[in-house]
Amino acid sequence: MVEYWSVPVTEALKAHGLRIADLATSSTPGFTGDKQKAQELLVQRGEALSGLQEKLFANGRSGDRRSVLLVLQGMDTAGKGGIVRHVIGSVDPQGVDRAAFGVPTDEERRHHYLWRVNKALPRGGQLGVFDRSHYEDVLVVRVHELVPREEWEPRYDEINQFERELIGEGITLVKVAMFVSLDEQKKRLRQRLERPDKYWKFNPSDIDERAYWPAYQEAYQAMLDRTSTADAPWYVLPADHKWYARLAVTELLIDALEKLDLHWPPANFDIAEQLRRLERA
Ligand code: AMP
Ligand code: MG
Repeated sequence: MVEYWSVPVTEALKAHGLRIADLATSSTPGFTGDKQKAQELLVQRGEALSGLQEKLFANGRSGDRRSVLLVLQGMDTAGKGGIVRHVIGSVDPQGVDRAAFGVPTDEERRHHYLWRVNKALPRGGQLGVFDRSHYEDVLVVRVHELVPREEWEPRYDEINQFERELIGEGITLVKVAMFVSLDEQKKRLRQRLERPDKYWKFNPSDIDERAYWPAYQEAYQAMLDRTSTADAPWYVLPADHKWYARLAVTELLIDALEKLDLHWPPANFDIAEQLRRLERA
């Protein structure tokens, strides 16, 4: 067991059977430390993550096609960007493949909704990060009826099938749904309006979306109920405390990378011979 965790993070955050209406978004499941401890651990565990990621990258260079893909979903202000900066930011950028999914462009709209996702998948050895994902096509699309029910309804099964294929291709999915309370969101949106360094994150439509909160809760619940599978489970992350959210995602990624049982790729040259050549050079 990792220090300061009463249960493994994968247990603490598992979506199975969870009602998000009952979720305490300010809770810190499984973690026994406080904010200061979490911040200390984030540095230490960030280094562990970085070491594992380097091994993944090294194996990718040697032809290993496996990769890890972090899928982040959450309402505006849930902290997806902070995860990218503070968690993914601790690893070597050359091994990171980040993609953000916004309102589809005209070109994207002309294709199947998985088209843009397929193009953004991490290559072997990469740590991929999706800031939003194909799940928007059963979230915002469902809430705002951007396509009729007959069209979004079959997407749950289609996404499960799609993810099975990804797993078959060597992609380990780490799906994290981040939740803040309606109050916490208000606080964070207010900050975006009060601080010049945060204006750029503000979008007036974020305020309109608040009226759809119950519909989003329902859509998120359906997503968890229907697309949390044994091989690609959802983790439900209470995200009012950023220090907890960042540490928890770090631990989820470490867990995923450790399960790959990575080793440094062996030398594909004769070490003794190269040492002799080096001495003479
Ligand atoms: P942000 O992540 O703050 O840059 O916002 C991106 C916006 O794009 C969010 O409001 C999403 O709901 C929206 N978005 C993402 N995917 C889709 C989609 N498939 N259809 C419609 N809107 C989407
Ligand atoms: Mg936004």
